[in-house]
Amino acid sequence: MIKKVDHIAIVVKNLDEALKLYDDLFGVKPTKIETIPHQGVKAALLPMKEGGEIELLEPIDPQSGVAKFLENKGEGIHHICLEVEDVDKELSKLGEKGASLIDKQGRPGLAGKVGFIHPKSTKGVLFELAQKV
Ligand code: ZN
Repeated sequence: MIKKVDHIAIVVKNLDEALKLYDDLFGVKPTKIETIPHQGVKAALLPMKEGGEIELLEPIDPQSGVAKFLENKGEGIHHICLEVEDVDKELSKLGEKGASLIDKQGRPGLAGKVGFIHPKSTKGVLFELAQKV
């Protein structure tokens, strides 16, 4: 079951610069800034006052998917994250329905236990499913 849109992720060249810009423009400050080595990114979560977050991603590993995205498409929206009750269950259901999955099982991410669905199965948009842990 999809509970809500958890966050929208934006790829940026420089996280510190983007954090300053978003603070200046919107007055939002990060609640979490973390380096996630297995995804090759430095990430920050900016909570909105009444729910939902913006996630900013700066690639730190030139081989990562996020670095390739930045190289090919430039800065911009990278993925939409949906909060679910049980990420493993949702991924398995989607797999049975023929969706192409980047993760067959949930793994640790900034938003909790997460798994990604390939954009070729969702009209060109990368979706992340996240279960709060
Ligand atoms: Zn995300």
